[in-house]
Amino acid sequence: MFSYWEQKNFFSYDLIVIGSGFTGLSTAINYKKKHPKASILILEKGVFPTGASTKNAGFACFGSLTEILDDFWNMNPKEVTTLVGRRYKGLQQIRKTFGDSVLRYQHSHGFELLEEENLAAVDQIWEVNKMLKKIFKKDVFSLVKKPEKFGFSSRVKTVVENHFEGELDPGAYLGALWAKASKLGVRILTGVSVVEIQKDAGIVLAENTGKNKVFEFKAEKVAVCTNAFSKKLWPESELEPGRGLVLLSKPLADKIPWRGSFHMDKGYVYFREIDGRLLLGGARNKDFEKEKTLEFETNPKIKSHLESLAKEVIFPGKAIEWEMEWTGIMAFGPKKIPLIQPIGEKTAAAVRLGGMGVAIGWQVGKELSQLLSKM
Ligand SMILES: Cc1cc2nc3c(=O)[nH]c(=O)nc-3n(C[C@H](O)[C@H](O)[C@H](O)COP(=O)(O)OP(=O)(O)OC[C@H]3O[C@@H](n4cnc5c(N)ncnc54)[C@H](O)[C@@H]3O)c2cc1C
Repeated sequence: MFSYWEQKNFFSYDLIVIGSGFTGLSTAINYKKKHPKASILILEKGVFPTGASTKNAGFACFGSLTEILDDFWNMNPKEVTTLVGRRYKGLQQIRKTFGDSVLRYQHSHGFELLEEENLAAVDQIWEVNKMLKKIFKKDVFSLVKKPEKFGFSSRVKTVVENHFEGELDPGAYLGALWAKASKLGVRILTGVSVVEIQKDAGIVLAENTGKNKVFEFKAEKVAVCTNAFSKKLWPESELEPGRGLVLLSKPLADKIPWRGSFHMDKGYVYFREIDGRLLLGGARNKDFEKEKTLEFETNPKIKSHLESLAKEVIFPGKAIEWEMEWTGIMAFGPKKIPLIQPIGEKTAAAVRLGGMGVAIGWQVGKELSQLLSKM
């Protein structure tokens, strides 16, 4: 039972955005900037965003050498270059919009550890640099002169440096998006799970999480920004969930002799230093099928693979004590290109950001807001 005042003030909007990760918040902000008078509501099922945006590793990256080479198996050179360009542009835009200190951004560069089986990639550095010259004007990749300075195991044959990558705090970035949206007058309701959308009518049915009470919201336009969790609202969507695991060590006794965003195994494994600790994650490729899930659980096979990498490759012979672990869910498809499209007369979606949402979330939100403006 709702009051007259509730009915009059809380249920109808110009735009309803579902999901408050990087994409949802970026969509709302960009739409509001273009249409300052628009009333906008964001509905988020978690108490705070609970998808990938607050669970990721904080790599401000656009692709390691072997990851880019691997992309050529599924995409043509133009698609690969466009994707890298889009990610890099996205990183530049968030740095410009929010500032490095707010994002806790550090331009510490990216590094990729190459073992024997990936060494052939070194011969292609020149070609990849040439292909990316149009975007970066300079060489992106080079070989680190003295890779032994990192102290990795002898399994690591060489290290490739990416001069344009960095690291940030994804929670700080999300907080900045949240603050900007609120400042612009976007209303955000959390703990509200959308259970159904009538895509042509702009009707959004939502439940107060766990309470089973249904609220019927109405909007001129609806934006679906639920990434891996979109199948329920958009069953035809071409996307598959992919879980990612992150381990965080206790502070290490010795100072870590490197800084930056480190990648291994075609980008499937990643690690960085944070507050004197080792943050290590990924390795979904060690159990692909089981990781196609929406369950936030740890896969013991992947955890033990990451633990072995820590003590055998990253800090050879050192015992690492772990303090925390968490998982997050990403969305993937046949190509690493996000889906941004109308899915009903009044509804459009922007989902499937893969493992690069830090870089492309803002840009994807901007593109969705432009699409909504035209609908
Ligand atoms: C472990 C891990 C490490 C990663 N590391 C990096 C990295 O270092 N660098 C990088 O660029 N990217 C990384 N990523 C990927 C990046 O985090 C994602 O691409 C990005 O966060 C996607 O943002 P999004 O807003 O589209 O989706 P999400 O952040 O998943 O947001 C979707 C939101 O929708 C909400 N929602 C879902 N269903 C409903 C519903 N029915 N009703 C209401 N709300 C709903 C969810 O609660 C969630 O908050 C990583 C991801 C993971 C999981």
